[in-house]
Amino acid sequence: MLIWILFMKSIAILGSTGSIGCNTLKTVEHLKNFRVVALGAGKNVAKLAEQVRKFEPELVACENDECAEELLRRLTDDGLPAAKRPKILVGEEGLVAVATHARAGTVVSATVGAVGFVPTLRALEAGKRVALANKETLVMAGDLMTRAARESGAEILPVDSEHNALHQCLRGESAAEVKRLILTASGGPFRTKTKDEIERATVAEALNHPNWKMGDKITIDSATLMNKGLEVIEARWLFGFDADRIAVIVHPQSVVHSMVELVDGSIIAQLGVTDMKHAIQYALTYPERLENCLEPLDFRKASQLTFEEPDFERFPCLRLAYDALRTGGTMPAALNAANEVAVQSFLDGGIRLSDIPRVIESVMRAHETKPADALETILETDAWARARAAEILTASATGAGSV
Ligand code: NDP
Repeated sequence: MLIWILFMKSIAILGSTGSIGCNTLKTVEHLKNFRVVALGAGKNVAKLAEQVRKFEPELVACENDECAEELLRRLTDDGLPAAKRPKILVGEEGLVAVATHARAGTVVSATVGAVGFVPTLRALEAGKRVALANKETLVMAGDLMTRAARESGAEILPVDSEHNALHQCLRGESAAEVKRLILTASGGPFRTKTKDEIERATVAEALNHPNWKMGDKITIDSATLMNKGLEVIEARWLFGFDADRIAVIVHPQSVVHSMVELVDGSIIAQLGVTDMKHAIQYALTYPERLENCLEPLDFRKASQLTFEEPDFERFPCLRLAYDALRTGGTMPAALNAANEVAVQSFLDGGIRLSDIPRVIESVMRAHETKPADALETILETDAWARARAAEILTASATGAGSV
C-alpha cells in the first residue's frame, strides 16, 4: 500500500464542478494512480460536497463565505469525520491556494473565463504542469503566461481538443517543417443558418451544440464562432505561430480534431471520438499514452468527413479574434472581457446573439492598446473592457444608444 502511494501523482483541479472538471475526475478514477489533493469550484456546493466525500482532498475553494458555510454544513450533516474534512478557502485567494498546493504536481485549469487567470498564472510560476482548458487565460495574457512557464520550467499541456490534437500532431516535428496549423471547427448550431435566422436565435437554440456537451459560456462561444477565435489566439501562444500560419476550417463531424500542414505538403491529423476525457487523459499522462475508458472511433459511423471555409460575415467574432491577435498587446484581453460580458447578457436575455460581436467591436474600437507585459496592465484592461461593455449594454437597454 505504502509503495503504491509513493507512485501516486497528486493533482489539483480548478473548476472541478464544471464539465471539464467532472470529466477530469472521471479520468482520474479510471487512471487510479492520481490522488486529488485540492479542488476549486464556484457556487455548486452540492456537487463539490459530493466530490469531497469521494476524493477526500486536503483543500477546497469555493466562491464566497456563504458557499463555504453551506459546504461545511453539508459535510458535517453527512457525518464526514472532522479528520476527513478539507480546509475550506474562498474567492481568488482560495483558487490560488488550490493552484499552488505544495503537493500538486499537475493543476487542471478548468474554471471558465477570466476568473481562472491569476490562479493559473500562479500555478505556472510555481512550476506545475498545467493541463489547460481555461483558454481565456492564454487569450488575456499569453505572453505573461508562457514567460512564467519558461522561467519556472512549468509545462502547459492543452486540454482543448483542437490544441491537444495539434500537440499530438507536432510530436517529433520541428517548427521549421510546419507550414501552418489548421484548427477544425464544428460550425456550431447555426452553421447552415442565414444571417436573419442567427439574428433571431433563442438562448435554447444557441445552447444546443450538435456535437459537444459543454458549459454554457463555451457553448455560446461555439455558436458565434468566438470559441474558434479564442482558440486561434490560444494556438499562437501554445505553439508560437503567428496569425497568418493558423487557419480555421469548418468540419461539421468533429472527427478530425485538428491538423498540421508540413512544408512538403503532408497533412498530419488527429482523429478521435468527441469525448473530452481523451484530451484530458493525454494531458495528465503525457508523454505516456495509456488505455482509456472510451469507445474506439467507429469508422462506419465516421465515413463522411467534410470540410468548408468559415463564413467571416455571418460569424464576425472569428474576424474580431484574428484582428485582436494581429493588433496584439492588450487587445485580446479587451476582446475576451467584452465577449464574457456580452455572452452573459445574451444568456440573461438582455441582447440578441448577433449583438455579441457588435458589443465586442465597439469595445475594441475604443480600446487603446498597450504592451501586455505586466499583470496589472492585463487586470486593468480586463476591468476597463468589462465596464465599457456594460456601459454599451446599459445605453442600449435604456434607449440611450444602440449595441
Ligand atoms: P462549466 O461552466 O461547465 O464549468 C466552469 C467551472 O468554473 C465550474 O466548476 C464553476 O463552478 C467554476 N467557476 C465559475 N465561476 C467561478 C468563480 N467565480 N470562482 C470559482 N469557480 C468558478 O465550463 P466548462 O467545463 O465547459 O469549461 C471550462 C473551461 O474549459 C472554459 O474556459 C472552456 O472554454 C474550456 N473548455 C471546455 C470544453 C468542454 O468540453 N466543456 C472544451 C474545451 C475547453 P460552479 O459550477 O461550482 O459555480
